[in-house]
Amino acid sequence: MADEERHYDVLVVGAGPAGLAAAARAAERGIRVGLIDNNPEVGGQIWRRASGHLQYLPVAREWIERVAQSPNIERIGGAYVAGLAGTRAVAVETAQGSQNIGFTRIILATGARELMLPFPGWTLRNVVGAGALQALSKEGLAVKGKRVVVAGSGPLLLAVATSLHYAGAEIVCVAEQAPWWRLAGFALRVASDKVKARQGRSIRRALRGVPYHAGAWPVEAYGGERVEGVTLRAGWRKWRESCDYLAYSSGLLPNVELATLFGCRTERGAVSVDRQQRSSIFYVYCAGEITGIGGLERSLVEGEIAGYAASGAQEQAQALAARRRSALDFSRALERTFALRGALRRLAAPETVICRCEGIKLREWSAAQAWRAQRAQAQCDKTGCEGRICCDAAQYLFGWRVNPARPALYPDPASTALIEA
Ligand SMILES: Cc1cc2nc3c(=O)[nH]c(=O)nc-3n(C[C@H](O)[C@H](O)[C@H](O)COP(=O)(O)OP(=O)(O)OC[C@H]3O[C@@H](n4cnc5c(N)ncnc54)[C@H](O)[C@@H]3O)c2cc1C
Repeated sequence: MADEERHYDVLVVGAGPAGLAAAARAAERGIRVGLIDNNPEVGGQIWRRASGHLQYLPVAREWIERVAQSPNIERIGGAYVAGLAGTRAVAVETAQGSQNIGFTRIILATGARELMLPFPGWTLRNVVGAGALQALSKEGLAVKGKRVVVAGSGPLLLAVATSLHYAGAEIVCVAEQAPWWRLAGFALRVASDKVKARQGRSIRRALRGVPYHAGAWPVEAYGGERVEGVTLRAGWRKWRESCDYLAYSSGLLPNVELATLFGCRTERGAVSVDRQQRSSIFYVYCAGEITGIGGLERSLVEGEIAGYAASGAQEQAQALAARRRSALDFSRALERTFALRGALRRLAAPETVICRCEGIKLREWSAAQAWRAQRAQAQCDKTGCEGRICCDAAQYLFGWRVNPARPALYPDPASTALIEA
């Protein structure tokens, strides 16, 4: 910790709903809290660029204002936690350079990322992660008048379709791989929850007239320089839809890399935590989608519990147990409903590029014996996306064990160098 420059009682990594709730609750105890996020603004994925229209987002406003008004929280925006710097410090990269930041306890609220399963044509220009296209549109990409097919799996598809519709895009259709019968059970559950039912109604209003295909998925994207259309399949039926963008997401995967650097135990791709959100490392707490995919309510309640528990307010944390149980129950329903069908493993053809950064094709991987597979994976692990896209896909396609995370967790900007512990 020799060149450490700052120290917090509780350091929170990630300023999405979970991180905001964690920081706000910890700060209530009068301790010094640091809140780091790689984005300049707080809000995470769901509340990206929300600051201009908080009047329409009461829940976002509540948490963002609590954090902004707390004298005990120091915000560190535009800063990546790139690795560890000793036992109780992390190495942080900003545009200005690197520094180590120390803490007594740390709360990881690093969220999730999209899984994109490869299929022929998925590397064409304008085939984009669904959440990524939404983010680009919020950052200023003009989608007005563009025809967008939204495909893949999970509630994110509807959220993205709605957001792009309000940005002026023409949503050609939404294709969800989960079958009708599973979606119907899920819809009944959503209808019994007042808040979720209201969200469901506003999505239905926005997407009135947009075809929604259940049990349908893309099998090919076609075009020249960029995507011109997509072939969809539902059972034995195949048809084409032309589009300017294919917004594609096969689901979400927890961002566990930083937690695994600390040595936190993971199970089925998410960090294992106890009822107080404590991981297997006693000073590391985790909250939100890093512990499993579950939507906004789960992120908020887990963030609150982690904030209380990490600051020593165990009783307040305990008082939220029932809300947490109900959020976890909803997570299990999500997992059952949107479980990926086996057919998606067989979409990629031998010539389909699996690793966009290195141009590695499926046949080069699937023909590999164990050692070659590892080599291909290792090679892929060093690419521009740090293996985030192709290793996730390879893990799903081949059941490979993904290499453990190692610093730097993100590609280093040329201007900075990681500080050694
Ligand atoms: C791309 C995408 C788009 C989504 N869009 C929607 C939507 O429109 N509507 C909806 O209901 N749900 C959406 N979701 C789901 C939503 O994000 C979750 O339901 C939930 O709100 C997640 O909250 P969280 O606080 O756990 O994580 P997030 O909101 O993901 O916040 C995590 C934050 O941590 C930061 N971070 C991660 N690693 C580091 C690091 N090493 N250093 C610094 N900062 C780091 C991230 O940049 C991010 O800001 C989306 C998910 C994704 C992946």
